[in-house]
Amino acid sequence: MRLSVIGCGYLGAVHAAAMAGLGHTVVGVDVDEAKIAALSQARAPFFEPGLPEVLASAMASGRLSFTTDFSAVAGAEVHFVAVGTPQSAGSDAADLRFVDAAFASLLEHVSPGDVIVGKSTVPVGTAARLAQLVAGRVPGATLAWNPEFLREGFAVQDTVSPDRLVYGVPSGEEGVRAARILDEVYASAVAAGTPVIVTDYATAELVKVAANAFLATKISFINAMAEIAEATGADVTQLADAIGHDARIGRRFLNAGVGFGGGCLPKDIRAFSARARELGRGESVRFLEEVDKINLRRRDRVVDLVREETGGLHGVRVAVLGLAFKPHSDDIRDSPALDIAVRLAEGGAIVTATDPEAIPNARRRAPHLTYTDTAADAVADADIVVLITEWPEFTNLDPHTLGHLVTHKTIIDGRNALNPDAWRTAGWKFRGLGR
Ligand code: NAD
Repeated sequence: MRLSVIGCGYLGAVHAAAMAGLGHTVVGVDVDEAKIAALSQARAPFFEPGLPEVLASAMASGRLSFTTDFSAVAGAEVHFVAVGTPQSAGSDAADLRFVDAAFASLLEHVSPGDVIVGKSTVPVGTAARLAQLVAGRVPGATLAWNPEFLREGFAVQDTVSPDRLVYGVPSGEEGVRAARILDEVYASAVAAGTPVIVTDYATAELVKVAANAFLATKISFINAMAEIAEATGADVTQLADAIGHDARIGRRFLNAGVGFGGGCLPKDIRAFSARARELGRGESVRFLEEVDKINLRRRDRVVDLVREETGGLHGVRVAVLGLAFKPHSDDIRDSPALDIAVRLAEGGAIVTATDPEAIPNARRRAPHLTYTDTAADAVADADIVVLITEWPEFTNLDPHTLGHLVTHKTIIDGRNALNPDAWRTAGWKFRGLGR
């Protein structure tokens, strides 16, 4: 099939490359010239495991191209919209300017019979509004909403083999046809037995934000337990293991630590709250405001722990291990690691930070911090080491070797990812979160 993908960021670039890898002919369109220049040379503009390989083979096949020129979408029969929906400046609501601009440009080149497929995470009600716009501008074209659940770090695999597909489609024949076309796009996943949920626009939009709200709540739940554990001397990691054995609860997403960040969970729960308030249902998801607060308090806790261990931040040499919001990504959007590093520096600490992939992005956002390529360089002469992003490069560090490099053997494990006994045996003062 001939597809277009509008917006070639973390979602769109992977989607375009993966769809071409599956045999479709794909054109990716973005307004960011630098991104398109990189992609056109088969270079991934961000770090995502597996993306360079898929990109290279799809470009070599001749089935994948990238451009800033929207007219290139003419001829495609399915158009995916994957532009950003960040938090609005000054409010919790999603900023839909990029979605609106993308639709305005796209609709100039769409033909009757084409299917436009929204993938961006949007407030419930957006698809219904855009469907009216599509009907007015290109009668005979159809809008579907197909939310994306990929995880950065596993994006290629999640795109090719999703754990479910959700199609929000209009009622009647038009919706049946749109669902059939989406089944053709995702033929390999459908043939592999991937569950497909065909529903209305509102449900499809809500599935995405509800899923993220649930995941955020699960993380903040265990972090709330960490706060109680800190007040009582209990160990939150043992608590998580014990309750996680209950299949109804499950152990995944129950790791206490500095909490969630990134370009999705924080802004999605805020946008959900804002939309619920607009709908007069703010009460229904008021708990998400608490989920957000618990999450942000964990960052305060790490800053407080550093202060507690060093007797004040001024002039203290702090090594920060990790900058990305999670391992296997270079994404620093709303990253707890970068936030903590910046706050330590603001408090007067001399921060040296490292990350296997996120330094270029972090340097653009926080040029005043000192960055080094390796953990060994970062911890040299450090008064305290803070692990915040649990890259294997950091969780596999040898406490004995590191012990020779630092001034004081004190470590804060912001992800409860290290073995406290191994570090204590090597002579370190070890502080975890909630234990
Ligand atoms: P991103 O910022 O990496 O990418 C967005 C891209 O859209 C950018 O390259 C930008 O230049 C481009 N763009 C903006 N306006 C445009 C326009 N008018 N025309 C063409 N391109 C335009 O963001 P992302 O992480 O890829 O997220 C995109 C959407 O997908 C968001 O709604 C996000 O919530 C959702 N989502 C993201 C993930 C993820 O893990 N990143 C997962 C699921 C859903």
